[in-house]
Amino acid sequence: MEKKYKLLTPGPLTVSDTVRAAMDFDYCTWDDDYKQVTQWIRKTLLDIAQVSDAVYDTVLLQGSGSYAVEASLSSFLDPAADKLLVISNGKYGERIVEMARCQGLNHEVYALDYDQVPAADRVTEILDGDPAISHVFMVHNETTSGILNPLEEIGQVVQSRGKVFMLDAMSSFGAVPIDMESISVLVTSANKCLQGVPGFAIILAKKDLLEGGQGKSRSVVLDLCAQYAEMKKEGKWRFTSPTHTVMAFRQALEEYLAEGGLEARHQRYANNQKVLSAGMEKLGFKPYVSADKQGPIITSFLYPTEGRFNFNDMYAFMKDNGYVIYPGKLTDVETFRIGNIGELYQEDMEQVVALFKTYMEERYDA
Ligand SMILES: *Cc1c(COP(=O)(O)O)cnc(C)c1O
Repeated sequence: MEKKYKLLTPGPLTVSDTVRAAMDFDYCTWDDDYKQVTQWIRKTLLDIAQVSDAVYDTVLLQGSGSYAVEASLSSFLDPAADKLLVISNGKYGERIVEMARCQGLNHEVYALDYDQVPAADRVTEILDGDPAISHVFMVHNETTSGILNPLEEIGQVVQSRGKVFMLDAMSSFGAVPIDMESISVLVTSANKCLQGVPGFAIILAKKDLLEGGQGKSRSVVLDLCAQYAEMKKEGKWRFTSPTHTVMAFRQALEEYLAEGGLEARHQRYANNQKVLSAGMEKLGFKPYVSADKQGPIITSFLYPTEGRFNFNDMYAFMKDNGYVIYPGKLTDVETFRIGNIGELYQEDMEQVVALFKTYMEERYDA
């Protein structure tokens, strides 16, 4: 048996023992009890998003978060009639562009450096300059760097121009407040801020899109309208359902509500992030994203400048001491990332900082 560690990676993440224990049963997919769990999850997600079930509905889709991003492009955009604007300041934005290209969608990219956030004025200019643009896709919390994009400003512009706003809220939904007013499609996954295990993705979308797009998809398994048509009837998934993941997710949602919902989870994560970054900065580590743009989910730190910093050595030390961190994902500067979501508390963050202190003293001060 491998030595246990906690994940400082934003998905999959460390879950509670009770969420893990909920998987210790083999459920039958067509049994009513199981189908009702699916329906309860779908309804609870609408409650968390604070939207009316008259306007929005939830679709669950097998696979990781990216499957739902690609599925929403396939299900809601028509290559012959639509044009997509992707706002991109990280690898996840770039992945959306790659998917658009692969699907042969007309698209344009508003690309920014990874430490910059999009400007509402620039989005206005782009939309006004190209009336063919019908849909806008943006990542909310760019997990590449940890930067939090200005959702309300961008959402207002997109809505005021009457475009369909699609949001990758993968690593923010449930922990960062989101006003759904401007959003037509929101994508997230079971294994991020809601603290379930990997296995399915979540799409919250306006019902008119879910009901109006039958037959549009270029993919059978990624057809959200077909998945919705089946699921809304009585909670049945098309194709094999990730039963263990679904039961773990029900438990995770119950724990989310018991913790105090969005407010409480936001507090815990924001506090984790603050304790972590304050502690790391005291040790001399510099964050990549400026404080006013930093989100409460994950933080990128620059390698210390000595030039002798060895990520693999540091990774091994941390793992040996019970925590696993993330390598950086930036192309221009060398960074590593520390996530603070999942079953992690202030004590964990203090412990992580203490380990870094020990490590830096052992390796570099001797
Ligand atoms: C995790 C994540 C995704 C999805 O990644 P998967 O590996 O497919 O789960 C997409 N966008 C963002 C911002 C993410 O954090």
